[in-house]
Amino acid sequence: MASSLQSTLPSVDRVLRVPAVVALAERHGRPATVAAVRAILGELRGQLAAGQGGEPPPVDEAALAGRVAAHLEALARPSLRPVFNLTGTVLHTNLGRAVLPPEAVEAMAAAARGPSNLEYDLSTGRRGDRDSHVEEWLCRLTGAEAATVVNNNAAAVLLTLNSLALRKEVPVSRGELVEIGGSFRMPEIMARAGCKLREVGTTNRTHLKDYAGAIGPRTALVMTVHTSNYAIAGFTAAVPGRKLADLAHAHDLPLVVDLGSGTLVDLGDYGLPREPTVGETLAEGADLVTFSGDKLLGGPQAGLIVGRADLIARLKRNPMKRAMRIDKVTLAALGAVLRLYADPARLAARLPTLTLMTRPLAEIEAQARRLQPALAARLGEAATVEVVPCESQIGSGALPVDGLASAALAVRPAGGKRGRGAALTRIAAAFRGLPTPVIGRIADGRFWLDLRCLDPDDEAAFAAQLGALTLDEGHRR
Ligand SMILES: *Cc1c(COP(=O)(O)O)cnc(C)c1O
Repeated sequence: MASSLQSTLPSVDRVLRVPAVVALAERHGRPATVAAVRAILGELRGQLAAGQGGEPPPVDEAALAGRVAAHLEALARPSLRPVFNLTGTVLHTNLGRAVLPPEAVEAMAAAARGPSNLEYDLSTGRRGDRDSHVEEWLCRLTGAEAATVVNNNAAAVLLTLNSLALRKEVPVSRGELVEIGGSFRMPEIMARAGCKLREVGTTNRTHLKDYAGAIGPRTALVMTVHTSNYAIAGFTAAVPGRKLADLAHAHDLPLVVDLGSGTLVDLGDYGLPREPTVGETLAEGADLVTFSGDKLLGGPQAGLIVGRADLIARLKRNPMKRAMRIDKVTLAALGAVLRLYADPARLAARLPTLTLMTRPLAEIEAQARRLQPALAARLGEAATVEVVPCESQIGSGALPVDGLASAALAVRPAGGKRGRGAALTRIAAAFRGLPTPVIGRIADGRFWLDLRCLDPDDEAAFAAQLGALTLDEGHRR
């Protein structure tokens, strides 16, 4: 039985001689093509063996070549693909956070394309320091004495703690023991950094005397962590930065602030909810401030540390820094983004993160109204599409409680409540299945596409691919 099945399938060599497959080998290379042919023949063998008895269908060479081609194309397609982020979260960690400005993209391409003076001092011809490409700009924009850069803010916190507090104690308020999406939990980072967390105060209230009571001979520094993704409301108390800095300095200890999504400008100037800026935090007495490059700053993934020169020097001497160093392509992007901050008046027009956060509601609504008819027509009987008000989030632990008024296309599956969950799942999957996947969110019995982050320049491409949207039959009932 088995051998009769085998005999209905051509050999690998025979398939490789089919002209269409020869052409595939020229395009994709012989090893990949041989592997694809083996894989497809293996699949067919499995299907034939699983099939009911009787005579198996003859194997058609053209169909075989088609399957081999599809297999090879799927492998060649990049895994990391552009998507439309219509989740309503501007800085979406799972969708890559900040979108970079063209200046940064060009700088990245130039750094990637050829050699550069990454760690080479062009004036002396000697070894240079990669931090030098951004340090002056970071100092200028924050008022810091010195700065250094690592590959993300988690690394910045880890490096700071390990450099300044190894085998020592660090008091942190119980209200600030944050977990940032995924796996960044302050107590665990402390442990991995080799220092001992000394919890201070309570979840809702921490007073200066709590910190004072926690400081002892084993204390290395005092730390505060910006509660970036939650807010403690009601009966609360926290110690103002200035007071805490004075206390730390009275004990000859540095105050380290993990600002998370540090911003370099007063967001209030752009009509957005205020966040403490990096410069203000330093001016209030923080000795080091750590923050992310790809949150409110709107740059590439990076961890920035600014503050006192002697402390930055200790961080730079830590051998761990080498394991966290920033890549040249990222450094190029960061340098380009920092230069945009030289002109705050034009920043909202030039920095995509700020452009998206400040997009006028009327413009988003108008875009939603323009797109509604085409989407409604495409979905036909299967669902209704309405233009509805919604609230966007900044995301990535920035301004967690302040929503931004926005507009969405809300897709409601036809029919009653029964089966609605499954219908919504299918609709979401259909949008993800588009050539440029569209990511929305399901809430309140609807599938929401918040249009805040649909760049007007991409609107035509977005609309054009709606024609490819297909809901499977199960939905059409
Ligand atoms: C986001 C955040 C981090 C982690 O920063 P990454 O750049 O994502 O590594 C650390 N601390 C706080 C307070 C944050 O908000």
